[in-house]
Amino acid sequence: MSRSCPGLFEALLKDEALLQPLVEFARDAACLHGVLMRPPPTMKPAHVTLMPFTLLPIPMPRALYFQAVEVQTLFNTLVDRVSQDEAFLEQTLSSTIEVDDFTARLFHIYKQIQREGRTPSIVLGLNRCDYMLDQGSSLKQVEINTFAVGMGGLSARLVEVHRDVLRFVGLPEQSEQLQYDHPPTVQASAVAKAWELYGSHRAVVLLLTLPTNYNRYEQRNLQMALLKWNICVIRRSLEEVCASASLDEENRLFVDGREIAVVYFRYGHAPDHYTEQIWDLRLLLERSRAVKVPDIATHLAGTKKVQQVLSEPGVLERFFPERPHVVEQIRATFTGLYSLDLGPEGDRAVDMALAAPERFVLKPQREGGGNNFFGSDISRVLTEAPGKERTAYILMDKIQATPSPNIIVSAERPPVLTDCTCELGVAGAYVRQGRDVLSNEVVGYLLRSKMAEHVEGGVASGRGARSSPFLI
Ligand code: ADP
Ligand code: MG
Repeated sequence: MSRSCPGLFEALLKDEALLQPLVEFARDAACLHGVLMRPPPTMKPAHVTLMPFTLLPIPMPRALYFQAVEVQTLFNTLVDRVSQDEAFLEQTLSSTIEVDDFTARLFHIYKQIQREGRTPSIVLGLNRCDYMLDQGSSLKQVEINTFAVGMGGLSARLVEVHRDVLRFVGLPEQSEQLQYDHPPTVQASAVAKAWELYGSHRAVVLLLTLPTNYNRYEQRNLQMALLKWNICVIRRSLEEVCASASLDEENRLFVDGREIAVVYFRYGHAPDHYTEQIWDLRLLLERSRAVKVPDIATHLAGTKKVQQVLSEPGVLERFFPERPHVVEQIRATFTGLYSLDLGPEGDRAVDMALAAPERFVLKPQREGGGNNFFGSDISRVLTEAPGKERTAYILMDKIQATPSPNIIVSAERPPVLTDCTCELGVAGAYVRQGRDVLSNEVVGYLLRSKMAEHVEGGVASGRGARSSPFLI
């Protein structure tokens, strides 16, 4: 029955008499289930709008979905081990930091913390690996995120909306096939564990975020989950914290007079988030005893350059000696990644990209979307940066996702039938104290869909939407 679903879904999308009432129903269901976001900052502070979502869930091979879920705890371990390997980070980032000021500043903070012997004893990692399905049939990793990863329960709410939608169109059995297997409290319990290890009942969690963040409600979900365990969260911008942060003689961090057990960065990943004062603050936070999510080493472990070097022969083996199965499982998700370092290997990568730019993506060391180059822009950038500057980037095979038709539903824009491609993110959390890994878990998924004609998505631009996987 489920195998015929893609065909059934396509037929529904062509049923014009059904679509208008269905979209209206879906919008109302999304309101009731809380699939919401803050509208762009020009709107009034109390305004709420729908998080754009696809009208129907997205058919996805079950085996590929579970491959992504099952490999996540291995990626958690990998990121954690990379973050503890000073020689590897130093060697891997040495060419990048010569030309990329932002990564260089992060790296200098990292080195200073190492020199001062302040390697954190409690580590809380919240990571997410993103994938696309190459030709619809193989799971390929887009990137590893170690910064500002949140998993606030919106995916679970959207599954409820998609269930209602399938029931509305007379597909009750299919609606039962939609599942969200990750309890909403797993991420919060990792944060709670780190808070408990920090060991002060008075201490609170500091959530670094902007008041204009569209994803505010997901953050509130985490806050409410923590409140159930009597753990308080205070929300501040980096500027606000600059004005009031201090360390006591035992390096305990205080903000507005409150002791901080956990600092959770929900932004601070882009150069324009930083002023000189905020760079000083970043160093102060790293020096403090508070648990940082992520700490500076884990932040660096999430750079695109590290991702590229991890794909080189023998490198995964360094982190998993004697574990060939683990290496194999992780490596199976990698697509072609190429260094642009100076030398014959980098020259070959440049020639390859210039010969067929449509087959590649050129990526700088940036996060948050909108930074990559595609197609003829790759040729332009590589021609304009022929020397050392090219080492600020990595080159990657372009993953060829197969589009499927859907409708992006939002509050403002009229619904349009469009071909969409999707990106599956699987998030994980781990807690380590010294050498002991105390937990390592999958906390949830994030399925994003974008109009196939755009190379990058993004919900704010109207090209992207949240979705749910329909496993077939
Ligand atoms: P960021 O850190 O800015 O999110 P990503 O590596 O996730 O950077 O890339 C942003 C977007 O670019 C992805 O969401 C995807 O749409 C597109 N993209 C990135 N890498 C690839 C790739 N190898 N093949 C196809 N599209 C890609
Ligand atoms: Mg991304």
